[in-house]
Amino acid sequence: MKLAPNLHRIGNDIIAVYLVETPDGITVIDAGLRGHWKELLAELSDMGRSIADVRGLILTHGDTDHVGFAERLRREHGVPVYVHADDVERAKGVKQPKPGGPKNDLGPKRLGAMLGFFAYALRKGGMRTDYLTEVVAVSDGDVLPLPGSPVIIGLPGHSPGSIAIYVPVADAVFVGDALTTRHVLTGRTGGQPAPFTDEPQRALDSLSRIEDLPVAWVLPGHGSPWHGSPRALVAAVRSAAV
Ligand SMILES: [Zn+2]
Repeated sequence: MKLAPNLHRIGNDIIAVYLVETPDGITVIDAGLRGHWKELLAELSDMGRSIADVRGLILTHGDTDHVGFAERLRREHGVPVYVHADDVERAKGVKQPKPGGPKNDLGPKRLGAMLGFFAYALRKGGMRTDYLTEVVAVSDGDVLPLPGSPVIIGLPGHSPGSIAIYVPVADAVFVGDALTTRHVLTGRTGGQPAPFTDEPQRALDSLSRIEDLPVAWVLPGHGSPWHGSPRALVAAVRSAAV
């Protein structure tokens, strides 16, 4: 699905993957679940492109619902996969995220949304994780040698190596699970903190690092794309957190 001339999304509001297209090729942001592979191929074909045009994949963090087809893309097509140094072990399946999530107020509506998430994950092969075996570690402030010259902004909190990826030519910042516009468990929409966050307060504090970016799009890993200022979205997240 095309969001803007050089900005595409696959997946849906449950789990999203983004593509930035420039004359130099394509940068992929996050890799969803294994089963998103077919959607990647279909989207590339709609764009008149192929997998050979993909120059790199950047993970917003190392959680399994973002690692999806990354290892396949790397192993079968030689595409480098970039992840923050502090999430390398997580992306390789060495260090598992802390168990967490809301333990209260699991009403029927929430249960339905949660079952929806897991049913979707099952359909997309998410219950089997193909962990990465090789990655390129990145740090805060790096500008990657990929289409769109993505800028890495450290946003620790959801995980130690969570990042935002700022791509000026796409007029966008990709934020992974530093915030969400749809709670994967409850189905509630609107700007809010993401569940399964290691350090909630640190995650909120990190958001000040993106709120002044001059972009039209803020693109989370879960939930609908935000077409508006980062400042307004960050304010919504902060007020939903209290
Ligand atoms: Zn996620």
